[in-house]
Amino acid sequence: MDPYVIEKNSQFGRFLIASRDLKSGEYLFEDLPFAVGPKARTYCCCLECYCPVDGTASGTRCENCSWPLCNECSKLSEFSAHKRECEIFREAKCKFFNLPDANATCMQLDCITPLRVLLEREINMERWKNEVEPMEDHREKRINSNAWKEDQQNIVGYLLGPCKLGQRGITAELIHKVIGVLEVNAFEAKTINSNSVRCLFTKLAISSHSCIPNTTHAIHPSDNFRMHVRATVAIEKGSQLFSCYTYTQNGTLDRQQHLMEGKYFQCHCERCLDPTELGTHFSSMKCSSCLFGDVLSSNPLDSEANWICNKCSQENSAETIKESLKALQDEVKCTKSVEFLESSLEEYEGILNPNHYIMMSMKSSLVDAYGHLKGFQYHELPELYLRRKIDLCEDLLSILDIFEKGKSRARAMMLYELHTPMVLFAKSQFEIDNLTEEEYFKHLLRAREILNESREILEWEDESICVLKKYAKLSLEYLDKLINKA
Ligand SMILES: [Zn+2]
Ligand SMILES: [Zn+2]
Ligand SMILES: [Zn+2]
Ligand SMILES: [Zn+2]
Repeated sequence: MDPYVIEKNSQFGRFLIASRDLKSGEYLFEDLPFAVGPKARTYCCCLECYCPVDGTASGTRCENCSWPLCNECSKLSEFSAHKRECEIFREAKCKFFNLPDANATCMQLDCITPLRVLLEREINMERWKNEVEPMEDHREKRINSNAWKEDQQNIVGYLLGPCKLGQRGITAELIHKVIGVLEVNAFEAKTINSNSVRCLFTKLAISSHSCIPNTTHAIHPSDNFRMHVRATVAIEKGSQLFSCYTYTQNGTLDRQQHLMEGKYFQCHCERCLDPTELGTHFSSMKCSSCLFGDVLSSNPLDSEANWICNKCSQENSAETIKESLKALQDEVKCTKSVEFLESSLEEYEGILNPNHYIMMSMKSSLVDAYGHLKGFQYHELPELYLRRKIDLCEDLLSILDIFEKGKSRARAMMLYELHTPMVLFAKSQFEIDNLTEEEYFKHLLRAREILNESREILEWEDESICVLKKYAKLSLEYLDKLINKA
């Protein structure tokens, strides 16, 4: 029996529910993309491997069709990704127009992924009918938008005009449907060489969105971009399966805006409805009037709603709040030096709740820096900073435990970052006799537990793009040796 069933209602459209009690980490399903291709509004890239290619007259091209390929791919005797469109372009004599400058956005490539979907449709009509056609394209919301007009000219006009797809029974309406389905449902993925692509998965798109997802997916570029979906937490029979279509590490204002602009819907999840974001105060600012209370949106679903202090009831307009957030974000963006981040964290304590997403993103940058950045690498890092890194990781984990609970990739990466300073700190404390042998041993076992949890989750990733997967295994071997010695 499949671990899920597909249901339908007016609020969610089609959605997935657990057909039985599911365990945390349980495998749910796999999904192969219907089509893979360049992202919209991309730089000029190779149509076979997606690496950047010079779009000006000096760049390499396909000998058959004149469209961009990298040097290596241009020597291939047979294409895989580029195969079908290459024939279309060659037969219709649709040449690529060189760009005036190498950094320009390559609008001509916008037609590639829709074209690949249309060509796959011809040879896989059954899957198209069952899986792609029912997908949401939000035609009524997109029609007459600027993007629609651009797509009409740039994609629809091009495919029906010069490429003569009308001869194959393809209509403007069908092309707009494909563009809409891609816009609303496509997932960004990385190739094994870390180039960006978009993939059209059909099954995952059925699971509804939530800003506190209970499933996780790993895309494997080394295996035809196959996606594996698992439960991150225990899910009761009959409960809905949720994935997240936006960034869990953004505040409600930003998540709502991203979902509305890209996916055309407003999220009503538990987290979005709660001004405190489930008690985390992830978007809360400090009150400048009483200097004590938290300032929260009076209606998180309305970006124009006033913000009110929960202690003195002082009101602020949405405009004021957005302006101060923008100023803070601009300031943080400028430098990423450790000293600057540490002093900003201290300075912002009077303005933002310590759990605010801006504070958390600075803490996350510090976690990346301590242990890795030149001048702060583990072998030269004083104990004080090891302790600091442990505290920062724990702060970030306390938030992840709410927004990406259970066996999520984000938690796995943070657990990995946490285990090293724990081991090093315990070691140095033991060496100066601040820890007994027994206490030292206990610390090592705790670090092992953390690392092992991380390794178990990372096991689901594609090793070709997730270096941490390998490191977690090696670190565990090293730690086991250390524990056996202790
Ligand atoms: Zn290539
Ligand atoms: Zn070609
Ligand atoms: Zn939400
Ligand atoms: Zn106040």
